[in-house]
Amino acid sequence: MLGKEPSGHRHDAVRQTRSFPKVHSMTLRHGRELLMIPGPTTIPDVVLQAMHRPAVDIYTGELVDMTDRCLADLKRLFGTAGRPYIYAANGHGAWEAALTNVLCRGDKVLVLESGRFALGWGETASSIGLAVEVLPQDFRKAVDPAAVQARLEADTAHEIRAVLVVQVDTASGVRNDLAAIRAAIDAAGHPALFMVDTVASLGIEPFAMDALGVDVAMCGAQKGLMTPPGLGLVAAGPKAIAAHPRADLVTRYWDWTFRDGPEHYMKYCGTPPEHLLFAFRRALDLLLDEEGLAAAQARHALLAEATHRAVAVWARSGALEFNIEEPSHRANSVTVVRVADPALGARFVAFCRDRYGLVLSNGIGDLGGKGFRIGHMGHVNAAAVMGTLGVIETALVALGIPLSGSGVAEAAAWLGSATADDAR
Ligand SMILES: *Cc1c(COP(=O)(O)O)cnc(C)c1O
Repeated sequence: MLGKEPSGHRHDAVRQTRSFPKVHSMTLRHGRELLMIPGPTTIPDVVLQAMHRPAVDIYTGELVDMTDRCLADLKRLFGTAGRPYIYAANGHGAWEAALTNVLCRGDKVLVLESGRFALGWGETASSIGLAVEVLPQDFRKAVDPAAVQARLEADTAHEIRAVLVVQVDTASGVRNDLAAIRAAIDAAGHPALFMVDTVASLGIEPFAMDALGVDVAMCGAQKGLMTPPGLGLVAAGPKAIAAHPRADLVTRYWDWTFRDGPEHYMKYCGTPPEHLLFAFRRALDLLLDEEGLAAAQARHALLAEATHRAVAVWARSGALEFNIEEPSHRANSVTVVRVADPALGARFVAFCRDRYGLVLSNGIGDLGGKGFRIGHMGHVNAAAVMGTLGVIETALVALGIPLSGSGVAEAAAWLGSATADDAR
């Protein structure tokens, strides 16, 4: 077609605009919508299909066996020889499960701020009668281990019973250094329980509960674990199990002791969330056996780096920038971008969705209306991430944002060389 046109018109942008009337650009979102938010994430078709079946008996047979296999795989995922629990709950439920099983009314907990979600866990803690102290941190930075050490050293009476932190915060896009925080607690000689939220990092970032000295870890199944929302996951190490008998906040639904009981239904404190378990089982097979946990972590690291490279190029124009200033503290599951122009910040996510069919997230917390978040976790491949970057760049052009280079070209050049075909 192009060859038949007069050569002078081949790359004539004005002519092309005339050939593609404006109304056509308004329907570019038709097609499969691409969900690139920091949770819930895209559910693989095989996981969706695993739920499409009748309910089964809750006392014997397949479901009982499946529970055992899910719990065994959870220990693998958390990296613990401790005790795993599965709740019909979201992450907020798992927060409550974690707190109520090891703490008493009035106990003090130290929340390590690094965005929004540790604060949220702290709000849950204060709503159930715990005394919450926040170790403040700037929204653009990771938890500072030296500040943790100093605060715990000052707590000579050991009033702080637990330290609460997230591995990855989906509001700020930070990844905290859990080993350094553990080392800070140890350096202070402090006995507090170390409790970690891995909702946006399990299956994505390396995490090894026992090796890291984490006493309680919690997660939700709907982010890196590619399962429909509704499963809350908790694991308890030996120090947490030892603290459990004195915990007077515990209620029947969350109670580890009840869930350790002899009947299968007790593991769920009632009817198991059967279809979510069918889905979870299939997702675990996909993650642990078909892909492999190390490979999945490497995939996330590659796709995150490609995303970060693109954002770094766009940031050169000054129109946008990373929320997290220190590159090594940026998460592999989500990238949080600040937008200089508030009018654009408020509009960008809706524009990408309505015009192009790409679903990003608005900024939350300190970044409300001032930025956007790109989720690149769970069932995401190079096609999804490169497509996302392509649409973001397209939207920046469409909105007239000045660009000082192509982030997409940079991401493609980097990812292409990082994954170069050895057989070339
Ligand atoms: C999403 C998220 C949560 C909350 O999970 P819900 O299932 O929405 O309750 C908690 N912590 C982190 C780090 C998250 O990203």
